[in-house]
Amino acid sequence: MRLVMKFGGTAVDSPDKVRHVAQLVKSHRKGNEIVCVISAVRGMTDGLLSIADSVKRGDKRSIDEFVKKSANIHTTIAEGAISDKKLKGETVAVVKKIISELEDVLGGIVLLGEVTPKSLDYLMSFGERLSTPIVSFALQDIGIKSDHLTGKEAGILTDGNFGEARPLMDTTKLRVSHRLEPMLKQDSVPVVTGFIGADQYGNITTIGRGGSDYTATIIAASIGAEEVWLWSDVDGLMTADPKIVNDAQVLREVSFAEAMEMALFGAKYMHPRALEPVIDTKIPIRIRNTFNIRHTGTVITQNPSKESQKIVKSVSAIRHTALIDVSGGGMVGAPGTAAKIFDTLAKNRVNIMMISQSPSESSISMVVRKSDLDKATTTLELSLLGKVIKQINVNDDVAVIAVVGSGMRGIKGVAAKVFGAVAKFGVNVIMIAQGSSELNLAFVVNDSDCDQAVRALHDEFDLARAAGKG
Ligand code: ASP
Ligand code: MG
Repeated sequence: MRLVMKFGGTAVDSPDKVRHVAQLVKSHRKGNEIVCVISAVRGMTDGLLSIADSVKRGDKRSIDEFVKKSANIHTTIAEGAISDKKLKGETVAVVKKIISELEDVLGGIVLLGEVTPKSLDYLMSFGERLSTPIVSFALQDIGIKSDHLTGKEAGILTDGNFGEARPLMDTTKLRVSHRLEPMLKQDSVPVVTGFIGADQYGNITTIGRGGSDYTATIIAASIGAEEVWLWSDVDGLMTADPKIVNDAQVLREVSFAEAMEMALFGAKYMHPRALEPVIDTKIPIRIRNTFNIRHTGTVITQNPSKESQKIVKSVSAIRHTALIDVSGGGMVGAPGTAAKIFDTLAKNRVNIMMISQSPSESSISMVVRKSDLDKATTTLELSLLGKVIKQINVNDDVAVIAVVGSGMRGIKGVAAKVFGAVAKFGVNVIMIAQGSSELNLAFVVNDSDCDQAVRALHDEFDLARAAGKG
């Protein structure tokens, strides 16, 4: 089989873990061609983001500290993970070279006194650029031929939307296969940085937080892989967040469409677009736990087996969200009102997670991330208040609860069951949305009611029992 295996940041954050990853790859080598995709060492991407912030504020001293710490982390991992003296030396030299480039970039940003989206992406790329060669050398250390490449070198071409760049798939497919096929033919395991690509001018771009999953599926679609394995530190997608529901279960099989909903609603955090490249090509994805390799994990496929087609498969919640309600008599029967509202918000890069409008058309409710709330209300106030809309009301502490399952389609009484179950616990439902695909039913409650609502639904649909067999 041809496999793409992605390893998350918690799988490569110590010498032992890197060795474990190398062994894991080795153990699956027989009869398989493998491409690896590696995330930044846990904490690195966040560290890079916060150093960018410090630099912006003119805090030059923190740079030295950060560079030292990064050098330390990566040389420690490299030295501990690789036994062969020559290879160890080579790895440390590569790490040092990248670290000195990092130092230069930070120095440059200080001089300019600003961080542009372009330079931020360049900076953000260092996490993966540092972790990836270490894994490749660790493979060589145990006798496996391996090459390491950045996403850019591997041929991932994106648009220039720094921070959330989108791959241009047609060109990407050609380039990636052209680049990786010869390596696979020569029995090498290419190890590619997750999260990064390059625009048409060769500037480094990043494809959004959690983007290494996305890199893995982009590569899989490009080289016609048979499966993508996402190795992380959870057993798989679950019926609910185990921190909220004690007896939450790992789901054996879910469909692409269901996984899409679950990703958006944060079951295991997966890049929301990570499934796009493999949906057309129907390449199954396995989610597996690096630290529990006996567990078979969750498989995401086009057509899950009959017995796993439950009415409801999971209940998830997104906390830290805010509800904005805009209203005004002027909105009634005025075509283009919704467009104006959404357009204004989109131009200011506010992402709307959920929408509902009453048929009277006198109000529209939207859910946004709490971190976007301020920007959203300011934007609406500045450009539309007093014109299209009369009033803006905000509830800044809500949670979105979603029940997901393709078996809900066409089944009567699901909504009654959902709302009946939460009503029993006195939970007030503030807003409701269901797409006509009937794949999920989402509603908003006060954040303080969140756990109660999730537990009530998990019980109501008997998910603790059902999932185990599914
Ligand atoms: N390192 C990136 C992040 O933390 C990408 C990833 O881990 O998938 O978002
Ligand atoms: Mg990650």
